[in-house]
Amino acid sequence: MCMQGAPKNGENKTKEDGKPMKIRKIQKKGYDNGVSLARAWQAEGRMFYYEGEANEAFYGLVDEESVRRLGDDAASQGVNLDLIEHWKKQAIRGKNKEALQRLQSWNEKRLLDSVEEVHQEILARRFSEEKYPEIQGLAAYEDAEVRGIADTFGIDYRRVLLCKEPYRRLIHLRITEGWESEPRQNGKCTTVIFKDSSVGPIIGRNLDSGISAMAHLQKYGEPVLYQWPKEMGYSYIGQTLSINSEGLMIHGSSIAYPKEPMPKDRYPVNIYNLVLRFCRNVTEALELMERYNLFFGPSNMLVFDGTGNAAVIEKSKNTLAVRRTEEDWIFMTDGVAVEEKMAKLQGNETIIYQFNLKRYRLIEKLLKEEVKKPSIEAMQRVMSNHTMPSPVCKHLDKMPSYYQLANLYSFIFLPQKRLFYFRLMRPGPSYPCEEKPTEYSYCFE
Ligand SMILES: [Zn+2]
Repeated sequence: MCMQGAPKNGENKTKEDGKPMKIRKIQKKGYDNGVSLARAWQAEGRMFYYEGEANEAFYGLVDEESVRRLGDDAASQGVNLDLIEHWKKQAIRGKNKEALQRLQSWNEKRLLDSVEEVHQEILARRFSEEKYPEIQGLAAYEDAEVRGIADTFGIDYRRVLLCKEPYRRLIHLRITEGWESEPRQNGKCTTVIFKDSSVGPIIGRNLDSGISAMAHLQKYGEPVLYQWPKEMGYSYIGQTLSINSEGLMIHGSSIAYPKEPMPKDRYPVNIYNLVLRFCRNVTEALELMERYNLFFGPSNMLVFDGTGNAAVIEKSKNTLAVRRTEEDWIFMTDGVAVEEKMAKLQGNETIIYQFNLKRYRLIEKLLKEEVKKPSIEAMQRVMSNHTMPSPVCKHLDKMPSYYQLANLYSFIFLPQKRLFYFRLMRPGPSYPCEEKPTEYSYCFE
């Protein structure tokens, strides 16, 4: 049943244009699910692209029309892009001679054969049923799903696999023999929470990315409701809100750790999906994340539930720390871990660490003031704060050369009211802080 705040007819839609919320009914069989997802994506004008950020179910997708309109040579080629050439260009830009040299001996065929090898290794792995019940049969399900998608789109399933970030990372590691252990990006995204107010908890979220991703991100902010068959887990709204039918939310901010090697035989698990599918509250989420410690990361993650319980998990590839707060607020921002052991591991002397720490301290200071009168407006002030040198709302022309990321969308979310206000960057660019928000309501039924 829908609670107050949802439209009377029970339909999920925006106030502005009455567009229904996208719903994906997850199928019990992986192949059927792949076909069903692929048909929905085709109908919505999505196409595959290796680095597509408008992703769903963690496949890289782009909006065909936006890519055509805004222009992006690599993205417009989609899965026909020569990935080896693309990586060579990246290696040249990153002045990584070693990686470039290793890439010279590779070609498309070898790349796709290597995808198959990695895929078979993943399918062959077995995990203790007692310790990891949630992922039993998952690899086989996802294998069938990928084949359903590939058949519907009429493309090689190995290319579809390459649209999943963990596969691309594993293959790239294989080609460059581990040369990817350098941090690949500084980090992005900030989530801030007032645990309570007259409208219940208020959540602010800024998503950052490189400006070149803009074409990919058109329509990215649209929420998608994943309805799981009951025996397979809880339903949840992915993409923006990342909240499940039990009221548990999980958000991430990216972060890089330079000093840790990747666990050798790691099976890439999507921890967000696992938490949303199988956990009802923060306690359960923390238990699951600690149990799956070696399967995901690095990332900062914030979990929050309907009881007001909250925690930030600072996670490298192997190590994890939990940050709690007794305050009426909690937040995480990108590129910086503040728990002692994590900060040390990250290298808290570096310029980039200190840059991100400035933003952390800024948000802390803003919250101490704004939490006295928590409101949507107060949250808006925090999320669109432009205090230099490390602002919460990042505009590309204001950022230092080592941090070329900007705020692409921003939303404020009221879980108790089942409402959220969404602002998206527009070409120009105009930043979300300059846009009028669109109001959405939602419901799980
Ligand atoms: Zn701004």
